Order: sequence, then C-alpha cells, then structure tokens
Amino acid sequence: MAIINRIAAFVEDMRAWRHDIHQHPELAYEEHRTGGRVAELLREFGVDEVAEGIGRTGVVGVIRNGEGPAIALRADMDALPIVELTGVPHRSVNDGVMHACGHDGHTSMLLGAAKYLAETRNFSGTVVLVFQPAEEGLAGAKAMLDDGLFERYPVDAIYGVHNMPGLAEGEIRVSAGPVMAAADSFTVTVKGRGGHGAMPHMSIDPVVVAAAMVGGLQSLVSRNLDPHKTLVVSVTQIHGGDTFNVIPDTVTLGGTVRYFEKEVGDANRQRMEALLNGIAAAHGASMEMDYKTGYPPTLNHAAEAAFAAGVASEITGSAAGDQLKVMGSEDFSFFLLEKPGAYAWVGNGNEQDRPMLHNPHYDFNDNIMPTGASYFARLVETSLPRS
Ligand SMILES: [Zn+2]
Ligand SMILES: [Zn+2]
Repeated sequence: MAIINRIAAFVEDMRAWRHDIHQHPELAYEEHRTGGRVAELLREFGVDEVAEGIGRTGVVGVIRNGEGPAIALRADMDALPIVELTGVPHRSVNDGVMHACGHDGHTSMLLGAAKYLAETRNFSGTVVLVFQPAEEGLAGAKAMLDDGLFERYPVDAIYGVHNMPGLAEGEIRVSAGPVMAAADSFTVTVKGRGGHGAMPHMSIDPVVVAAAMVGGLQSLVSRNLDPHKTLVVSVTQIHGGDTFNVIPDTVTLGGTVRYFEKEVGDANRQRMEALLNGIAAAHGASMEMDYKTGYPPTLNHAAEAAFAAGVASEITGSAAGDQLKVMGSEDFSFFLLEKPGAYAWVGNGNEQDRPMLHNPHYDFNDNIMPTGASYFARLVETSLPRS
C-alpha cells in the first residue's frame, strides 16, 4: 500500500484549494472565508452532515457509513500575523497575514481525504472531520471542546498531522508519548526605588536586580533539573528606564517556559518564584511574578501512536515510529486530554534552504499533500474496516 491512487488523481484539486486558502489567510477566530469554503467543499463532496460555527469559526463534517466505531481527523485553519516575503504567485493578499505554519496545507489534505472518503465509503463506522480555528496561541481546539464537540460528535480516537520542514519530503513520524511541549509564559515586575543616575547609592536599582535575575534563571535548567528531563526557560523581554541619567522605579522581564512533564513545570515554577524573590531581597528590592500556564504538552497515546505508525509506514514505505519531539506547542494537546489519539509529523522537505515554520519565506510543500491525505484516509479504512 502506497499513496492511494484515487487521491493522487485529484492532487491538482488539493493544490488549488491550498493556494486559494493561502492567498486569503485569516487570523485566529477570523476564519470566516476559510471555514465557509471548507463547509462548501464538504457539501460538494457529499459529506453527510456539515456544521459551522463550532468553537466560533470551527467547521465539522461527518461521514457515516453503517455500524462501527467513530474516529476524528483534525486540521487547523488559522494563519499568522506575518508579512509574507515568499513572492509566490499565490502569496497573501491580506497584508500582514500569512499562512506561515502550513495550516492551509493541513486543511487541504483533510479536504482531500474527505473527498475520497465521501466518494468511496470503504469503511464501516463514522468519520468526524474537525477543521479547527485559532491553533496559533488562542486555543481553538479548546473552544471547540467547550462548545460540545465530542458530546455532539462522539468519537473513539482522534488523529492530526503537522508538516515539518527539515524532515524529508513526505516522511511521517508518529510515536508514543511527548511530541510537543507545554508553553507557559511569565512576567516579572522588579520593584526598586528610582533616583538620579549619578547617585546610585540613594536608590535601589531595578536594572541591576533584573540583570541578576536573568543570570540566576539560567541555573534552573543547569542546576535544579534532573539531567534526564527536559525544560526550557527563556527570558525574551526586558523593559525598563527611559533616559540615561535616571534610575527607574521598576523593570519588567518576560519570557517562556517549555516542558513535557507537568511535574517538571510545577517544580520549576516554585523554584522560579523562590529564586526571584531571593534575588530581589538580596538587593533590597521586591518582585511580583505573573505566571500563566498555556497549552499543555502534546502527549500521544501509545496504542494509537503504534497503530498510526503502522499505517504511515505502509504509505511511505519507510519506518515511521521514531520519536520526533519539538519544544514548540500545539493545542491538539487539548484533544488528547479527552480522547486517545496521535499527532504525526509529515516531512515538508529537508533542503538546506527550506525555511522553518513561522518564517516569512515559508511555504507549504504541495508535493506532500497526497501522502498526508492518504494517511488520513488509511487511518479510517484501517481502523474502521468493512466486515
Ligand atoms: Zn504555528
Ligand atoms: Zn502550525
């Protein structure tokens, strides 16, 4: 079993859908045109039920074919606030908005699978096609869940894919356990006492305290974490002061924390609080930390990951079960907290100059669409076999 011939036959359709969506990108929860187009195509394909407006701008399609289990297949539809620099003919016509994460490709691959499944119906059970909004930071997956996605459309498992630049074109990786990290954020306000830049002894300088904090935070990973575990703590912002001869009252720091295990994140958060309070106190200053938990880690379920890897290697002809973990984050994690399932990487190509996700020169690789669509379709046909 390789790429499904019937799917390969309408690769030009998938390319056209993808280029149209790419040209008209929409930000989180603004996917009105994209969602409308998806719903229109699903109806055209003969999908049995199409519902719009789930999780604000999400779309769900259902293909029913007799008795059997139900599985969900998911794609994301939102774009990013980036000025596109690709120069391709299908480049964005919406200034400052760009499909720089390939969600146009994910959507088109799932549309390709939907067209094939609605036409051939070579399975026994139910397929729920989930086109979600707002993956980029605004938790569209959670919005769909909160809107009753799985109460209205009960499923036994859910599968999703994301393209990955640097992985060979059309290769698939899907493995048990962590795939992407949790993404928390923090803002620290350092409170000192402002004064004259020429008389530092009369003030408590929050700039010096903040500098000590940036240095101190580097010890969390290097000195407090079990070397076998994974954690990232990055300070990505420092704001303080307005002029050269005034010591400011306050300085703020901001950054991100990434990890795969909740226990690692919880322990780090406590350690951060203690360390930063201690550094502030050592300088006679004080601090306040506003710590926000973001997307949870994306953790694939073992049985579904093994099953998906088997399906993937049938399509690609090469092993698919090697682990590929990334410290980015993904709101598919919310689906995996409610249903068993697996999130797979599909290689976008490993040419040296191929841009990474979120780069203004990035473009989804059309050549991988038959692979992604076949993977979705074969997940259905293999897990819902006709008796
Ligand atoms: Zn992204
Ligand atoms: Zn993405």
